[in-house]
Amino acid sequence: MDFGVNPKYGDLIERAKRYAKDMLAPRAQEYDREEKFPRENFADLHREGFTALTLPEHLGGRDLYSDPASYATVLYELSNGCTNTAMLFHMQSSIIHVLSLLGTEEQAVRYARAVHDGKIFASHASENTSSLHGKMVMDTHARRAGDQYIVNGRKYFCSMAGEADYYVLWCQMEDEEDLSKSLYLFVAPADAPGFRIDREWNSFAMQGTASHSMIYEDVEVPENDIVGEGGDPIRPDVLPKFGFGYSAVYLGAGGGAYDWVVDYAKNRRLQPDNVPIATYPPISRAIGEMKIALDGALLMVQRAGWLMGTRGAAAAYGAINEAKYAAAETAAMITEKAIKIAGGPGLMRDFPLQRFHRDARAGLIMPPNTEKCLELAGKTLAEGKAGALMT
Ligand SMILES: Cc1cc2nc3c(=O)[nH]c(=O)nc-3n(C[C@H](O)[C@H](O)[C@H](O)COP(=O)(O)OP(=O)(O)OC[C@H]3O[C@@H](n4cnc5c(N)ncnc54)[C@H](O)[C@@H]3O)c2cc1C
Repeated sequence: MDFGVNPKYGDLIERAKRYAKDMLAPRAQEYDREEKFPRENFADLHREGFTALTLPEHLGGRDLYSDPASYATVLYELSNGCTNTAMLFHMQSSIIHVLSLLGTEEQAVRYARAVHDGKIFASHASENTSSLHGKMVMDTHARRAGDQYIVNGRKYFCSMAGEADYYVLWCQMEDEEDLSKSLYLFVAPADAPGFRIDREWNSFAMQGTASHSMIYEDVEVPENDIVGEGGDPIRPDVLPKFGFGYSAVYLGAGGGAYDWVVDYAKNRRLQPDNVPIATYPPISRAIGEMKIALDGALLMVQRAGWLMGTRGAAAAYGAINEAKYAAAETAAMITEKAIKIAGGPGLMRDFPLQRFHRDARAGLIMPPNTEKCLELAGKTLAEGKAGALMT
């Protein structure tokens, strides 16, 4: 069993590490403090060809989703620099992958061209009236009117609201109740009439994601911008990819905090000992605990990715939920320990630990939340389905 990183994508991981350090980390504090969408980071990632990585090769991408373990490692590295950027990058990368997977050739070519032109795609499914924890229900509806569809409804937690160039709307056809037949993706340009943004994003975490609410009032979507067949967005080879990527993104907050605090502890000396604080036994022990937990969770994420890539998302279902649980809990634990190690500077807004800690808290909530992950991982095992443990 080898669920390590595919050498085909080794260059991407090295580049992600470099971009995180040189481009993303220096801007992360400002995006957080100013609650600003990381536009410069998206421009840089586009210039470096990163925003097209999950497109298939024949559309000018690198088909990175064919190797989810490598994809997750790229996300993890980017997130070490800026968790907000990595999360938004994952959303855009996943939805453009899904559009090319489910769309017609004409649609795939058209959307890929937009990605190569630097356009940003957002994906909006969540609604305030129901939960992704339980059975998915949509109050956002579309109805056919001639050769187009008219969409009405309200979404919340819409990352990149007011910032993306295209919104991918997860909506139900109004004349069909069963979501497995009636849920479609509608792609609409951000300047289409009928979009209204309710700027209510006011969170203590992930402040740069612009995750406002959006109201759709008679938004017109032409027939050739409805993607896939009814129910395709919740297919087992589509939906779990979003949650899988969040594991890597939020674990990256833990990785960023770990790197920062180890460097700090190696350089910080106090009188009268005048030795690096990293050498004090309680601190070296804490560093050891953090590193073991971090490596363990990253391996679980890569294992889930390896399973998904080699045996399909259904076979990886248990492992994906285990990985998301481990990643989110580990990131929360590491960022808290890092603050304790650093002492006072851990609380200061001028240093990144409090930011990593706040962002890691969102990882516990982002679907599937950690409760749901446990439930699904256990259920997979209890039902004896292909899942967590591999023989
Ligand atoms: C930073 C950030 C950005 C996001 N961006 C996007 C985006 O761009 N697009 C998008 O579509 N979504 C996005 N989301 C939204 C996300 O997908 C969730 O829908 C959102 O977090 C709402 O879920 P909730 O945590 O409020 O919990 P809810 O779903 O409202 O549930 C509330 C509580 O009830 C529990 N619960 C609910 N139903 C059940 C049940 N049947 N059984 C047991 N317990 C239950 C939940 O576990 C939770 O504890 C984003 C979320 C975050 C944090």
